[in-house]
Amino acid sequence: MSITTIEGCAIATVDDARREIAAGHLVLDGDRIVAVGEGPAPVQWKADHRIDASGKLATPGLVNCHHHLYQWATRGYAQDATLFEWLVALYPVWANIDDATVAATARAGLAALARSGCTTSTDHHYIFPRHAGDLLAVEIDAARAIGVRFHPCRGAMDLGVSAGGLPPDAIVEDRDAILTACAEAIDRHHDPSPGARVRIALAPTSPFSVSRELMVETAELARRRGVRLHTHLAETDDEERFCLERFGVRPLQYLDDMGWLGDDVWLAHCVHLNADETARMGATGTGVAHCPTSNGRLGAGIAPVPALLAAGAPVGLGVDGAASNESGELVDELRAALVLARAKAGPRALTARQALELATRHGARCLGRDDELGHLSVGALADVALWDLSDLGYAGIADPVFALAFGPLRPVDLLVVGGEVIVEDGELRTADPLTLAADLARESRRLAKAAP
Ligand code: ZN
Repeated sequence: MSITTIEGCAIATVDDARREIAAGHLVLDGDRIVAVGEGPAPVQWKADHRIDASGKLATPGLVNCHHHLYQWATRGYAQDATLFEWLVALYPVWANIDDATVAATARAGLAALARSGCTTSTDHHYIFPRHAGDLLAVEIDAARAIGVRFHPCRGAMDLGVSAGGLPPDAIVEDRDAILTACAEAIDRHHDPSPGARVRIALAPTSPFSVSRELMVETAELARRRGVRLHTHLAETDDEERFCLERFGVRPLQYLDDMGWLGDDVWLAHCVHLNADETARMGATGTGVAHCPTSNGRLGAGIAPVPALLAAGAPVGLGVDGAASNESGELVDELRAALVLARAKAGPRALTARQALELATRHGARCLGRDDELGHLSVGALADVALWDLSDLGYAGIADPVFALAFGPLRPVDLLVVGGEVIVEDGELRTADPLTLAADLARESRRLAKAAP
């Protein structure tokens, strides 16, 4: 095992005691943290690799709780549209994705996440054109190449427009085929062991694109196999109207009636929840992937994050797909969460430290990894982000956590995943950004050309 010491930095551990250290050390032994504390690393640790981190802030690696990586090939579309208008415009473009699209977009999107401090990401992939190959395997290969920990969700849609759903019939799948594919994804890719690099979740897409039968059967399968459940919920007023008209209940009640709430479930958005519903989220331990930039881009509204936190629900952060958040960079979402919460409910609605907690330990809880991710504690996985706060952008801001959340947005200085350095001096080590950009531009052009 190789030992790395990181010394001289401020440390926001986000551990159980929320300990913060003005100038301290971290010691990494292989893929685990073995020491965290004040001052230099104890002499007993003979470092193979020593990092001088003076003037920097160490935080847990950030956790991204919601994404659609394939959407990196369709940025800039439907610029002033509501969610439903945006989806109707984009579904026919997405119908032409294939394994080359997913390879290029997953590498680009995961590289953007790594450069913005993300060490663990989920992805919600729900477009599976016939003959496109094993798209989950393609994105898992991309995550291995970039070096981030990865929790892909096998998404699904089986409710096409002819059956009262929103997506065109041509891009929905057959229910039995979906359930078979979900089981195969778990068989092939899910690693339940500690320190896992890849875990699978099951994720029928939304109330307006999935049948009730598929929701129920997917939950049964996930619980039988011990994997987590994810879906979109309560994103817009249009969705609420759809649920009231089709099911006679609001979106959260619809899920509750199907046994879909619990501490093995996390839901993207949850913008339109009332007080009873936020309490129900907390009581059931159901997680939320808060996606403030995407909600702002689509004008969906502002999620009741302070109320969800007060109720005890885990609230992680998500960039959401790059077609509704062209940036796709995770550290931006700390600031977006702060400014939206404060614009809605005043300057005490959310603190910089709470925003960092959302991006770390709350996100880890959403993905079922809070035992070993989302905090810098002895025994936790060595997933660390180091932020350079020494220059003009941050000079004179005494509080490093506040500086990170409210200062200029820029790449992480150093990113370590399971003890392996994947970003160094702000540069991605595992791929060439120019090559990623060229591949992404080629796939974006191809999809634009093939679009109806
Ligand atoms: Zn989404």
